[in-house]
Amino acid sequence: MVHPRVLQAMGTPLVGHLDPVFLSIMDDIQAALRWLFRTRNALTIPISGTGSAAMETAIVNLIEPGDSVMVGINGVFGTRLASMVERCGGHAIRLEVPWGQPLNPEHIEHHLRTTGPIKAVAIVHAETSTGTHQPLEHIGQLCRQHKALYIVDTVTSLGGMDVNVDAWHIDACYSAAQKCLSCPPGISPITFSDTAVDIIRHRTSPSTSWYLDCSLIADYWSESKRTYHHTAPISMAYALRESLRLIQEEGLDVRIARHQRNSRALMAGLQTLGFEPFPTADYQLTTLLCVKLPSFIDDLKIRKALLQDFHIEIGGGLGPLAGKVWRIGLMGESSREEHILALLSALEQLLARIFHHRSIGTAVAAAMATWSQSKNSYA
Ligand SMILES: *Cc1c(COP(=O)(O)O)cnc(C)c1O
Repeated sequence: MVHPRVLQAMGTPLVGHLDPVFLSIMDDIQAALRWLFRTRNALTIPISGTGSAAMETAIVNLIEPGDSVMVGINGVFGTRLASMVERCGGHAIRLEVPWGQPLNPEHIEHHLRTTGPIKAVAIVHAETSTGTHQPLEHIGQLCRQHKALYIVDTVTSLGGMDVNVDAWHIDACYSAAQKCLSCPPGISPITFSDTAVDIIRHRTSPSTSWYLDCSLIADYWSESKRTYHHTAPISMAYALRESLRLIQEEGLDVRIARHQRNSRALMAGLQTLGFEPFPTADYQLTTLLCVKLPSFIDDLKIRKALLQDFHIEIGGGLGPLAGKVWRIGLMGESSREEHILALLSALEQLLARIFHHRSIGTAVAAAMATWSQSKNSYA
């Protein structure tokens, strides 16, 4: 869901990409992104494109032919990172763990110690294909000790979960507008540490992508230069600025706590209906719940009915998880009590109608009980 103020911002009359008004909007966006990423990085900008463009920006700028990159793979998006590394002529060392489990920092350290020089470690904070949370804190320290860059995908966490770029020693961190920032797709934040910028500036060969080359894009975003590179997506920048303002008005800690509270409530409701969390305990995302379907549920039939009869869209399983799990986004504006109650009530009705399940009222009651518990404990 997108807040009406963001949609309204997109309808604002256009100005040119070098208009003084637009330059000041760029400053606002950069300041807000630094606040959101918790960083002082100078090169903190939105990329013109969706999250995959930001992912590709991190890789095409930092990786040169022959570089080894350790890529954590426990779902779809780690696989995508590895494929981008290889397209840049890099060597992807795939650190695979079963889907639904996080990577073990000791395992990463072992590889950093025993494998030849590693240019970078790339991992996904919030694996959207499995609902799994990857703790990030300790891996940055390890990367630093072994002089490897730390590249982190926070597409499904930034703005919904804690992301602390400077404290966690992250060198390249990217996200996307349409996940927890609740902005339409088409613009994607990224930030590079000064170490990363130094590496970009001193590459031996130019980046294989001209469009995503940050050594050129940085001159447009630098306050003292403002050199034209490509036309900024003006309306998307309006939208992003407004979505960042909404996050600032709510407060990051309050927002993160809201995601925690609401994901707990939805999970409690789903469990009464027979769904179980897919990721290993303690590693569930609060921005997206991935749940195993009870055996009596027909995946497509119920999702189709949810969409047609209740106008609620939820995600099915990707790849090997197709037909086995659901992925329910609880990001930004979508993480609201009314949406959770609407989904649980719709499921209760469908289960009663199709499977004669005695479910009416049970899931809604379980969700409401967790909210009243958390309200009491916060009071
Ligand atoms: C959605 C997503 C992406 C890709 O973003 P697009 O906007 O679809 O290009 C990358 N990484 C993760 C973890 C995602 O969830």
